Amino acid sequence: MHRRLVADLIVDVPDWPTPGVTFKDITPLLASPGGFSAAVTELVSGAPGDVDLVVGTEARGFLFAAPVALALGAGFVPVRKPGKLPRETYSQSYELEYGRETLAVHTDAVPAGARVLVVDDVLATGGTVAATVDLLRRLGAEVLGVSVVLELGFLGGRQRLQQLGVDVTSLVT
Ligand code: IMP
Repeated sequence: MHRRLVADLIVDVPDWPTPGVTFKDITPLLASPGGFSAAVTELVSGAPGDVDLVVGTEARGFLFAAPVALALGAGFVPVRKPGKLPRETYSQSYELEYGRETLAVHTDAVPAGARVLVVDDVLATGGTVAATVDLLRRLGAEVLGVSVVLELGFLGGRQRLQQLGVDVTSLVT
């Protein structure tokens, strides 16, 4: 029921940002109090136990990771685009479905051995989460898994992350 509501509030935008790509727009989901709440509730109920920190990637990942962290009683750690974090960082570059991106995290953002859950809005090729997992493992974190609102199954992100030993939970595929 919850998941059906979430799915119905995600809108297909053909040929954006480039021709041939269908962008999944989650802003109607965010704008719906019931839908947003349902998405967060489902992400929380599917989360592993004893999460110390929830990690979100800039920018849409923040919107789901922060409320999930609060609900789990965990902290929140931002993984950001380059040049945004004020102190020493580790960074990792990767290929996107359309372009290239770099992500960075503070070198002291996660204590070694911390149990970490990654939360993002959309899993496409898995490049964003793979880069995030790489950064977190460099910090010594134990990555418990990744939870996303929407998984684009045909892009193979789940398989890519499985090869890294990371389980994916998605609300809508
Ligand atoms: P990936 O790295 O190819 O898995 O792409 C996932 C990242 O790109 C996520 O952080 C998303 O925010 C963003 N993304 C990719 N495709 C879409 C989409 O169709 N809608 C919204 N975000 C997307």
